[in-house]
Parts: sequence; structure tokens; C-alpha cells
Amino acid sequence: MKTIRHLAVLGSTGSIGESTLDVVARHQDRFHVVALTANNNVVKMLAQCRRFEPRYAVMLDVTSAERLDTEIRKAGLETEVLTGVESLEKVASLAEVDTVMAAIVGAAGIRPTFAAARTGKQVLLANKETLVMAGHIFMDVVKQHHATLLPIDSEHNAILQSLPENFSGNLADVGVRRILLTASGGPFRCSSLSELEQVTPEQACAHPNWDMGRKISVDSATMMNKGLEVIEARWLFNAAPEKIQVVIHPQSVIHSMVEYVDGSVLAQLGNPDMRTPIAHAMGYPERIESGVSSLDMFKVAQLDFEAPDLKRFPCLGLAYQALAAGGNMPAILNAANEIAVASFLGGRMSFTAIPAMIEQVMQIISQKDMTTLDDVLEADNMAREAAREWLLCQT
Ligand code: NAD
Ligand code: MG
Repeated sequence: MKTIRHLAVLGSTGSIGESTLDVVARHQDRFHVVALTANNNVVKMLAQCRRFEPRYAVMLDVTSAERLDTEIRKAGLETEVLTGVESLEKVASLAEVDTVMAAIVGAAGIRPTFAAARTGKQVLLANKETLVMAGHIFMDVVKQHHATLLPIDSEHNAILQSLPENFSGNLADVGVRRILLTASGGPFRCSSLSELEQVTPEQACAHPNWDMGRKISVDSATMMNKGLEVIEARWLFNAAPEKIQVVIHPQSVIHSMVEYVDGSVLAQLGNPDMRTPIAHAMGYPERIESGVSSLDMFKVAQLDFEAPDLKRFPCLGLAYQALAAGGNMPAILNAANEIAVASFLGGRMSFTAIPAMIEQVMQIISQKDMTTLDDVLEADNMAREAAREWLLCQT
């Protein structure tokens, strides 16, 4: 008999959220949606409530919650509409929920993701920012509360699939030499430095292989996304930074690889569609249908690899620096990046100013150890403040 999983989908109106619900809809006998959450997209949330009839729907924004509530009553649905960060934490930790898809974008996802881990849920982690900001603190909470952590990020999901089942946190014990973290190189892989200066938000959001939210699309274009993923891999797999090699692979067919001491390299391949890692984690340890079509090897024809260029993509180097410094630096890197990306998307700064701002903020704030989630949130706040000041000084 199939066990039914009771789900809370955090960030259900986003790119990952929608793909998650697409997989859920294919397996009504396996998944029961208890709660959905979003920022302010009432139209999408209402459609999702009609389709999945969750017990709770959270809109972070108060006005959006009021509008949704009116529509829910009109539709005769029984969903209870909640609002605020506390409600995000509440639905992530409900006793009737056993599985939480953590798919809010950015630092906003950290508190509900912690709440899910603290209540021992199966946490399907798309919100990489939680691990970047709070690495060891989050991993300790997972361990302490016997939560299960499964990566949704396609690279980390591929690494998990390429590791042996008995992997329990020590790569050397299972004969791993290194991790090969693949990167598409984004839309500007072949652009010159002077071309990068002219990049517009629309160009930056047009990823050649993946259809994603705007923030992660810009991160992919600057390659900060790969930097965040190096930090994510460091904590998920307890991997020393020098054991993580970024490999540019423009086709995005190999989603990452694991190299063993005997020279074997195991990889996970597939079409670039997030429903594959989502279905892998949702069905784990069983394999379930995701709706993703077969990989047509004859159409792919060729797999290319190249080394990353840190001169044109300094964000990747900044992430390695933050990881080496440790303490609050990854949280500072992440917060400065969020402000920089939002400013770029809002037309307030150039594409090439993104790494410049982050580097400055990392220099202004002194390195400090962190032990609690409050320390992390404080570092996040300080960095946002410093980033905003930097922006003011530029104009
Ligand atoms: P998105 O922008 O498409 O969706 C974000 C979701 O979070 C939406 O439902 C939105 O309503 C909600 N949200 C936004 N701000 C919020 C706030 N302040 N409080 C509460 N909710 C808020 O983003 P996405 O592309 O789906 O990415 C989600 C996460 O998954 C990110 O951390 C991203 O790095 C990670 N991820 C995404 C992909 C992808 O293919 N999209 C791949 C790997 C990892
Ligand atoms: Mg990824």
C-alpha cells in the first residue's frame, strides 16, 4: 500500500511551487496538500485552492490575504486563510504535515524552513539561501530534531542520486574523491566584459535551458547561483570546498557528478526540468512518474565541458571567499546579493555592479562567528543596510 504524504508547499505560486503541484496532481493517491503559501499572487493562489482544497492558505501580504479570503468564501471553499511570517512558520510545523516543500525565494524562506526542520519534517529543500546563510546551524537543527533533508536543487539532487545509499555524512568513507558541480554558464557564457556592462534584466532572465523565477535567473546569469550552490553542497554533503569542482556544461543534461577514488565518475542525466528532482525527492526512496519526457540522446548529440571564468563572473569567486571566511560571511554575501539583484531588476544598477556591491559589503562588515538563527538574521540585516547605503553613495 502507498503511504500518503501530507504536504505543505511553501512558495506554491512560484516556479518550483507550480512544478511541485504538477507532480502532486499526477499522484492524488500519494499526496494530500494540507497547506499552500505565497507572497501576494491572489489569482494563482485561488486557482490552487480550488484545485487542491488545502486546509490552510497563507498570503504573506495582509491585503492579499483579505482578498483571497473573500474569493475563497465566494467559491464556497473551506480553506482557512492566514497571513504573516508566523503563519508561514505555523503551517510548516503543523502536526498533520509530514513533508514540507521549502520553495520560498531568498532569505524570506529561512524562518519557515527552520520551523519545518525543528518539527522533524521531511524537508524538501529548494530554498538554497537557508543553507547558504545558516549552513552548520541549520544542519545541526536537522540532526537534533531528526528531520530528513532532501535537496531539490537539480545539482544537489543529482549528487545525492550519484552517492551510495549508505552515505552518512563522510565522503571519504564511501570512497568519494570529489564532487563535480555542473553549471550551464547562463545566458552570458560567451559574452565579453564590455557586453556584460550593457545587459538588461530581460536578457538576464532569459536562461537558455531552464525556466525559473527572476531572482535565480539573475543569479544564474552572474553565476552567483553556482557560488551559492558550492556553499549548499559544502553543508549538504559535508564536503570541503576544495573537493567541489565547478564544471561548465552548457547543455544542462548532466546535472552533476561524483568522482570516486578508483577513477569512476557517476552522473545523473536528464532533460532540464525541475519536475525530475522534485519527483525524486517527493517519492523518495521510490521512483515516481514526473511528467518529464525521455532524454533524446540523438538530439543532445554532444556534451561539452569548460572551466569557469572568474574574471567575467566574479560572483563565483566571492562565494568561494565567503565560504573560506566562514561565520557570518556567507549570510552577508547572500543578503548583499539579494539587494543587488533586486536593484538590478528594478533598473537601479548595472549588471556588472552586482559583484562590485557584494564585494564592498563583504569588506565593510567584519567577520564574526554565528551560533543561532538570530545571529544569522542579524548578519542578514546588517548586510542589507550596508548594501542600501552603498547604493545611495553611487547615485
Ligand atoms: P519564484 O520567484 O518563482 O517563486 C517564489 C515563491 O516564493 C512564490 O510563491 C512567492 O509568492 C513566494 N515568496 C516570494 N517572496 C516571499 C516572501 N517574502 N515571503 C513569503 N513568500 C514569498 O522562485 P523559484 O524560482 O520558484 O525559486 C524558489 C527557490 O527555489 C529559490 O530559493 C531558488 O533558488 C530555488 N531553486 C529554484 C529553481 C528553479 O528552477 N526555479 C531551481 C533550483 C532551486
Ligand atoms: Mg541548481
